[in-house]
Amino acid sequence: MAKSDPNTDIEVPAGANRAWNFHPKLPIAMSPVFDIPPRPKAALTWLIGTWFKLAPPLSHILLAVITVAFLLPAMSAMQTLDASWMLQIAAINFGSAILLGTALHLYLYVFSGQQTRLKFDIRPMEKSSRFTFGYQVWDNIFWSLASSVVFWTLWTLLYFHVAANGWVPTMQSIGQSPIWFVLFFFILRFWQSFHFYWIHRLIHMPLLFKHVHSLHHRNVNVGPWSGLAMHPVEGFLYFSGILIHFVLPSHPIHVIFHMYSLSLGALYSHAGFDKLIFRDTEAMKAGSFHHQLHHRYFECNYGSEEMPLDRWFGSFHDGTEAATKRIRARKKLIFAPK
Ligand SMILES: [Zn+2]
Ligand SMILES: [Zn+2]
Repeated sequence: MAKSDPNTDIEVPAGANRAWNFHPKLPIAMSPVFDIPPRPKAALTWLIGTWFKLAPPLSHILLAVITVAFLLPAMSAMQTLDASWMLQIAAINFGSAILLGTALHLYLYVFSGQQTRLKFDIRPMEKSSRFTFGYQVWDNIFWSLASSVVFWTLWTLLYFHVAANGWVPTMQSIGQSPIWFVLFFFILRFWQSFHFYWIHRLIHMPLLFKHVHSLHHRNVNVGPWSGLAMHPVEGFLYFSGILIHFVLPSHPIHVIFHMYSLSLGALYSHAGFDKLIFRDTEAMKAGSFHHQLHHRYFECNYGSEEMPLDRWFGSFHDGTEAATKRIRARKKLIFAPK
């Protein structure tokens, strides 16, 4: 029997998971790129479609172009360890995180710009002693700025210093290899998913989870600032994805796009709302239900929708109640006394 969600007026089909205020169509969609048998048309639509809808990847690419054109220090300046260009990069990183994090938080949680429409978990941000300063939002902002953005900045400084000195392969201009320039954006989407899956599995190992990743998992329900609320060890590992640029020839737009995808992308993916609604129109994709499931059920969905690593390794939660039962049984198995 179908039920109507009073918040969204969206018809929630039979089989809807009532554990959520809103969820996308279930089971959740994964990238068809790795489907067997292959589905070339669906794969191509997924791959190309990413860049033609107002969603975080497109906004990161536009921001990366603007950053490289107008804000990034000149490569020649970055050859020496001079404080002025380093502070300039720090200002770009802290500035963009603070602007986007604040805008999303104010719109969605302070001014309730779309009430609870398309909100996954109905619960508000939490006041609890398990959070630094006793409040989820202050905790999340503090760890984002004192830890994640610092490591994002340190990695970026290291990369541009070595790139400016020609110690790693770089692309001086797009004209040097336009095909590689375009192709690398597609590769980066897979790389980000692949790298995140493995470092995330690593920090779910009991010792690292207890001392490191539990800080991020204080957030059972999430808000934009939860995305970058990480322990310094996690911040260091998370942004180490930049190492791909030390190996493969990269244009500054690739690097900045990649770093925005990791940093600003996490603010979107933890927004807690599937899409942003402006004036009753669904304006932009925001939250990730795939990752929201990870925050509620922990031992599932370590990766992202781009690569089916969770499916291959048995930890995929597709959002259905049957999957919840399966993941709970798996969790019992993992944590059973040996
Ligand atoms: Zn986790
Ligand atoms: Zn998270």
